[in-house]
Amino acid sequence: MIIINNVLVSDDLFDSQFCCDLSQCKGMCCVEGDTGAPVDPEEIADLEDNYPLFKKYMSEEGIEKVEAEGTFDYDMEGSFVTPLLSDERCAYAYYDENGIAKCAIEKAFEKGEIDFQKPISCHLYPIRVKKLPDYEALNYHRWFVCAEACELGHRLGLPVFRFLKNPIIRKYGEAFYQQLEDNYCEIKAAGGVVLNAEGKVLMIFRRGKWDFPKGKVEDGETIEEAALREVSEETGLQQLSIVKPLPDTFHTYKLGGKWVGKTTAWYIMKSNAHENLVPQTEEDIEEARWVKFDEVARLLKDSYPNLRELWSKLKREDEETLTAFAR
Ligand code: SF4
Repeated sequence: MIIINNVLVSDDLFDSQFCCDLSQCKGMCCVEGDTGAPVDPEEIADLEDNYPLFKKYMSEEGIEKVEAEGTFDYDMEGSFVTPLLSDERCAYAYYDENGIAKCAIEKAFEKGEIDFQKPISCHLYPIRVKKLPDYEALNYHRWFVCAEACELGHRLGLPVFRFLKNPIIRKYGEAFYQQLEDNYCEIKAAGGVVLNAEGKVLMIFRRGKWDFPKGKVEDGETIEEAALREVSEETGLQQLSIVKPLPDTFHTYKLGGKWVGKTTAWYIMKSNAHENLVPQTEEDIEEARWVKFDEVARLLKDSYPNLRELWSKLKREDEETLTAFAR
């Protein structure tokens, strides 16, 4: 957690990834939930004043609800929330031509008809703001309806705070957002899953875990050059060539108090030569070993989840390449 101007920022905002994928979730956050979205007291006037301008985009049931009961409601604790219909839809939601639930207020905003985008709590979601006596806490709210957004965010290596850059700036300002950026950096790495003519895979043992050789991309080199150089430096192999790219992996870790988001580009490589393996001990590599295909999953069992994912994807989707090497 970090603290910026009396705001407690959860590590999840750096350590988790997110990117809404409306084609998958169909905007479920607008139509699911047992209470409306929080509305700040100062936003009540925005709802009241702008209602006549965004009303034309609302559903008939939504208009009926607001005209009978008002532009806001109260939750169990007596705080202001958006009104909900009996089926839990937000009164301000409408369905577009693709069946995706969207916000009528935001539609009017996007058309330049009003200058209120939508309640800040909706704009900031999946960040939830918790008010404490002397602080506000920003937490990441996990909800099963956003499962695809988590997967997409992970594939893109997009941390929650970056996905929500605009709403964070809207609520807390540029300087606050910049402090979040100052707590996060990105590293690009490259490595190889090296196969040999005996149907074996090259693995290294570093800091108590089995791994594939990889390392940071240096300035001025291509990703492929970096991958070949790193494999060569870490294992001593000189005669290597790239067969094909594999999907990138992404993971985060903390270094010197900052969060690091590391994207690694992977390649299937081949090595036909019978060269000696020389583990790079300066990089804490204790061993480099050729391993049979069916042993890899066992060695990765206690290793990093993204490597298990990479290997099982390769086994699932690239059986042909592996079989060609195993002959
Ligand atoms: S917050 Fe979740 S439910 Fe709402 S649009 Fe994004 S992914 Fe979909």
